[in-house]
Amino acid sequence: MFTDDADQEAAKKDDGAKAQQAELFETEPPPWELTVEDDIAVGRIVFSEAPYGPYDYQIPEAEREHLKPGMRVRVPLGKRRHPMMGWCIETRIGYKGKRGSLREIVEVLDDEPLCDPALVRLVLWISHYYQAPTGQVFDTLIPSSVRSNAGTRERAYLTPNPDRSDEKSIELLPKKQQAAFRFLIAAGRPMTASELMVHAKCTRGPVSGLQSKGYIDVSMQREMTATTPMRWQKNDGESQQTHVPSEEQTAALERISAAIESGTGKTLLLHGVTGSGKTEVYIKAIEQIVRAGRGAIVMVPEISLTPQTRGRFERRFETVAVLHSQMTPSERHFQWQRIRRGEVQVVVGPRSAVFAPMPRLGLIVMDEEHDASFKQNEQPRYHARKVAHARAMSLGIPLILGSATPSMETWHATSTGHAELIPMNERINQRPMPSVELVDLRIRDDRTRGAISRPLHLAVQETLNEKGQVILLLNRRGFATTIQCPSCGHVVACPDCDMPLTHHRDGGKACCHYCDYTIATPPWCPACRFDGIRYGGLGTQRLEVEVKARFPDACIARMDSDTMKRPGSHQRVLSAFRSGEVNILLGTQMIAKGLDFPNVLLVGVINADSALHFPDFRAAERTFQLVTQVAGRTGRGDRGGRVIVQTFSPEHPAIQAASRHDYHQFATDEMVNRRKFNYPPLGSVARIIIRGVVEDVTEAVADSLLGRLEAARQALGSEVRILGPAPPPIPKLRGKYRFHLLLQSTDSAQLGETIRRATDSFTIPEKDDVQYVVDIDPIDML
Ligand code: ADP
Ligand code: ZN
Repeated sequence: MFTDDADQEAAKKDDGAKAQQAELFETEPPPWELTVEDDIAVGRIVFSEAPYGPYDYQIPEAEREHLKPGMRVRVPLGKRRHPMMGWCIETRIGYKGKRGSLREIVEVLDDEPLCDPALVRLVLWISHYYQAPTGQVFDTLIPSSVRSNAGTRERAYLTPNPDRSDEKSIELLPKKQQAAFRFLIAAGRPMTASELMVHAKCTRGPVSGLQSKGYIDVSMQREMTATTPMRWQKNDGESQQTHVPSEEQTAALERISAAIESGTGKTLLLHGVTGSGKTEVYIKAIEQIVRAGRGAIVMVPEISLTPQTRGRFERRFETVAVLHSQMTPSERHFQWQRIRRGEVQVVVGPRSAVFAPMPRLGLIVMDEEHDASFKQNEQPRYHARKVAHARAMSLGIPLILGSATPSMETWHATSTGHAELIPMNERINQRPMPSVELVDLRIRDDRTRGAISRPLHLAVQETLNEKGQVILLLNRRGFATTIQCPSCGHVVACPDCDMPLTHHRDGGKACCHYCDYTIATPPWCPACRFDGIRYGGLGTQRLEVEVKARFPDACIARMDSDTMKRPGSHQRVLSAFRSGEVNILLGTQMIAKGLDFPNVLLVGVINADSALHFPDFRAAERTFQLVTQVAGRTGRGDRGGRVIVQTFSPEHPAIQAASRHDYHQFATDEMVNRRKFNYPPLGSVARIIIRGVVEDVTEAVADSLLGRLEAARQALGSEVRILGPAPPPIPKLRGKYRFHLLLQSTDSAQLGETIRRATDSFTIPEKDDVQYVVDIDPIDML
């Protein structure tokens, strides 16, 4: 893959005939007589678009000392008319090839590298492991707002030319120019033209005159324009207090301190039940880091980045940078620059915070490490946990993973010695875990009409009477999940994805939840015109209607991605809930994560099975996590709490374990299942998705990829199981047919190498219009 000369590969495509001609007139010595030109400076450059490189270029004399890895350059590429932007990944002296055969770098775009050498190494590692073009990894690491200098402007600053600042030269000038020039000299600092005009009380004329006569030197400087303040409230009303650490917290902190001091890049799993006070442990550990003059990164799932989380860190540290998806580009750029200058002690943010350019990083924390949002669903498909691990190892700093329901990957790592387990088994103040009651939805007596069983209805009523608050979880948004004609059976589906549309009562829309296809919900059957189409299945909107009807006096808020679209809506609902204004909060998994409200006395899970029957080896794990996490939202105050879980499979081990808060039982059972098929964490999985507009052309490409994978496996003698190609659970998406190949091996390096070898130089004819993506350690199996 590494080619030494940009021309070679680009010219092969663009300029095959010319290259052959050139060969005929070749007069240079043949390759084996090549000498090393050890005075040539070479920069190795990668691109974000094909051809991705890396290619070598000669560094012009003037940039020799300046160009460093992590800077952007412009270089000629193939027969392109304009130079291309690329990233420098390496510089060296000495070129094994004939003098003059390297093309030159046209321009170096940055004054300083956008990432330090350690981050450049991290980029190369991500690119290799996740099999993503290095240039694209750079583009992910350095936000586009930074690359485009968002929120900055170039300003011209004027300084007096020292050669003309003597009295004799000044006297040669007309009166007004003299006055302005004397003013600039007296000011003793660079000024913009408009500043000078204001202070020297003149028009633009004299200033321009001085400039054109060479009395004034002009230098350009890029500076930040005023940054917009964040639209966050400082906190949501949580009382401010520091705590005396509990015994378990103290013990955890001692182990973390030891890891910090060891400098060996240890991974620690803080396995603490919900409400055990994990955040306080992170904060105290970071305080130790900050006292040593270093900084920390804290990653949380985007959705738990609430004012509460933010407040907890901002109250305890002087300088905190909070990164989130609703920042404007200039805010993002501003924060990035602050972090890079070392002005920030703690960075709090979602998965991309793992790339924060903190100069003296001392600790990385990942809260709710089991959360699926830490895996990026587009190229490069990295998992922030894996990246954090690589970054922490290379710097010799600890990585703390925290969760009440650790991923099977992390749990397994504690048994193989790759991570150290720190348990916290008790809630703060010895509060009991809430009791969990399972309601079997198969038993008719328990099932009144609608989504809420009798026991749940009674429990909600009791809780409201006691002035307690209720959380209801239903992991499906919309009103009805199918729209079906009772006469002919037709199901209204997305033309681009073949999946049933969800009916949304707000606006009477039918939407595809896989793409954004939306139509007005048809009033009659589009197939047979029968008047009386039925809305089946249950979404949060329908639940809201039912809850309002059942509890007309309660104030109800719904939280799902439909109601949370507007910036700030998430915080508004949560503070209304904290203040007690809202009695019942219902919503999707959004409400399951991290919330800490002492007055929540009841949690109801409307349907615990919704994630259980997915064709995915992690289905049980997800169900266990969701139920345990949402159950953990109650019993956080002095008044205790209870949980009611409605399910069609009360005997399922994952639901049983969740009802007893028994992570260990769950993990033991689940590991047996994983071992049967060598699923992660016992083996590695990779997925290749092939998609195209024409079904059989797409399948043919998938077949030829299979052929290459088999050949690669044989050539490498690797033990890799290949399944497929087969249509995945979502066989059509956004108008494209999909096929996938699943690869499994107990050796992740062999697995990676097999794919690398099979896809290296694998090109699909443009007319086929088929693309493929490689997903290493996939989370999304649909
Ligand atoms: P977890 O993240 O483990 O679910 P939190 O960090 O949200 O738990 O802590 C639960 C609650 O306990 C919070 O309100 C927190 O302020 C409080 N808390 C944490 N540590 C202590 C302590 N040592 N003493 C008293 N309260 C504490
Ligand atoms: Zn669709």
